Amino acid sequence: MVVQFLTSTTDFIRDVKNRVTIRQVIEFYGFTPNRQHMISCPFHGEKTPSCYIDDERDTFYCFGCQTGGDSIKFIEKLYDLTPYRAAQKINQDMSLGLKAPTSQNAAPAPEPKERPLTEHEKNLQIDEWALQQHDILLDYYRLLKEYSQELPKDNEINWKFAAFLDDFETVEFLLNRLLDKKTRYSMYANWQPTIQRITNNFKENIKREVKQNADKSNT
Ligand SMILES: [Zn+2]
Repeated sequence: MVVQFLTSTTDFIRDVKNRVTIRQVIEFYGFTPNRQHMISCPFHGEKTPSCYIDDERDTFYCFGCQTGGDSIKFIEKLYDLTPYRAAQKINQDMSLGLKAPTSQNAAPAPEPKERPLTEHEKNLQIDEWALQQHDILLDYYRLLKEYSQELPKDNEINWKFAAFLDDFETVEFLLNRLLDKKTRYSMYANWQPTIQRITNNFKENIKREVKQNADKSNT
C-alpha cells in the first residue's frame, strides 16, 4: 500500500510538472523574468538577478547559489515543502484540477481486517476466547482440587497455598459461566483481565512449578 501510494505520488508530481511550465509557475508566484530570462534569486540575497529560467529545459538555475531544478523544486525550496506538497500546492493554487493521491485513495479498498467487526464476529471471537480460557481454567481447577485436599504438612502458613485456595473459588465461579453462552459475554466484559491474569499465571508459573516439583520428587 505504501509502495502504491508512492508510485501514485510520483505520477502526480510528474503530472503537475507536465501541466504547467516553470515560467507559468514562477510568474504565478510573483517572479517576472527580465529579457535575459533572469529573476532575482529568492534563495539567496541578491540585487542583480542571477537566477536563470531555462524555458527550453523547463528548469531554473541560480548562478549565485547554484540552486537549480524544475518547477516543483522551485516551489519546494520557496515554501520549504516536500516535492509532493509542492506539487499539491501548485495544483491547488493554480487550479490545475489534478486529483492528488492521498494515502486513502491511492490504496486499494481497506483490508477486511481493518473494518470494524460486526457484532456476530465479535461474539465469535469471544466464544473462541471463552473456550480457550475455560480449558486452561479446567486444568487449573483439577490441580487446585488436588491441592485443596492436601492440607499443608506443617502448620506453616503457605502463602502459595492460600493463594491457590483464593483462586480455587474464583476458578470454580468462572468455569460454568464461561461455558454458558448466556453468561459468557458478560464474563468477557467484566472479568476478562482477571481471567487472563489467572490463566497466564497458571500457564507461565504454576504449571512450570508443579512440573519442577514433580521432577524433584521423582529423583
Ligand atoms: Zn540563488
